[in-house]
Amino acid sequence: IKILAIESSCDETAAAVVVNGRDVRSNVISSQIALHTLYGGVVPEIASRKHIEKINQVIEQALSDADTTLDDIDAIGVTYGPGLVGALLVGVAEAKAISYAKNIPLVGVHHIEGHISANYIENKDLEPPFLCLVVSGGHTHLVKVLDYGKYEILGRTRDDAAGEAFDKVARAIGLGYPGGPKIEKVSHEGNPHAMEFPRAKIADGPYDFSFSGLKSAVLNYLNGCQMKGISIVQADVAASFQKAVTDVLIGNAMKAIDEFKMDKFAIAGGVASNGVLREGMREACEKKGVQFYHPSPIFCTDNAAMIGVAAYYDFIHGQRDGLDLNAVPNLKLGER
Ligand code: ATP
Ligand code: MG
Ligand code: FE
Repeated sequence: IKILAIESSCDETAAAVVVNGRDVRSNVISSQIALHTLYGGVVPEIASRKHIEKINQVIEQALSDADTTLDDIDAIGVTYGPGLVGALLVGVAEAKAISYAKNIPLVGVHHIEGHISANYIENKDLEPPFLCLVVSGGHTHLVKVLDYGKYEILGRTRDDAAGEAFDKVARAIGLGYPGGPKIEKVSHEGNPHAMEFPRAKIADGPYDFSFSGLKSAVLNYLNGCQMKGISIVQADVAASFQKAVTDVLIGNAMKAIDEFKMDKFAIAGGVASNGVLREGMREACEKKGVQFYHPSPIFCTDNAAMIGVAAYYDFIHGQRDGLDLNAVPNLKLGER
């Protein structure tokens, strides 16, 4: 079964061809990062316009890289939520147009289900059930993957997402957008124990997260330095912040692994490409004898290959969408 997948939920226009769920034949990503960097973050209106400009050539490239044509495609998978509504609509409209013109079945995919499914690409042996920590620009979810397409959310962020915290702190210390990779890079020269930033625990939600207090602590520290006329050591602030975020993520994940006796654990989403987080998780899992999985960085941030994987499992379980498929900007995981 050969799937053409389309992703346009944020600032990447992406298309991919995926065969039988785990064999990625092509993975084309046109990133708008350079454009949005000018404004310090994603500008929704600009994102939508860029998607429209790029989507046709990205799809053509994905088909030709995979040495195939629409005549050989069995289904079209497309992200229909969550994300920016105008951005999502470009992919959804394109997918519907191809589906109608070529009479190819259409499968709407949940973007976060895509991020989780990225783990299946390089880990051919990975199958549910497993525990997954989704850490992306807009989500921080600790999820029990019960089966393909079946999820139980154990915990989530009460305020900022992990990636969002990286982006905001990066901006505050003058690193710019996108924050995650830039903070990781400068942290190599910094001391992660230079400052003790808070690690939030939530009394009535053992698997929930909160990063706004950490963000405020960093901002207060920066303001304090400015008032005292002390210059900040960017690398130390970045490394200490990164350590605080990863400590909390690792702590909650390990608590859930113990409580629910999980023997497999995966991470997903843009922040999952962070080296300090990966190494910390790997060590913690090794100590417990838990198998640790993560996608390569290119499959952590937004891409269409992961959407093709999720679409495959939805498709073989009978999911079909009609031409009334719409973009759902606040779609919840496990909802349709
Ligand atoms: P969502 O998937 O929740 O809708 P999104 O699609 O914008 O949001 P992703 O593309 O999954 O998010 O990830 C982008 C986020 O990942 C950004 O916040 C970025 O700063 C963060 N990120 C990317 N690389 C790294 C890294 N090496 N370390 C930490 N964070 C990173
Ligand atoms: Mg992005
Ligand atoms: Fe994403």
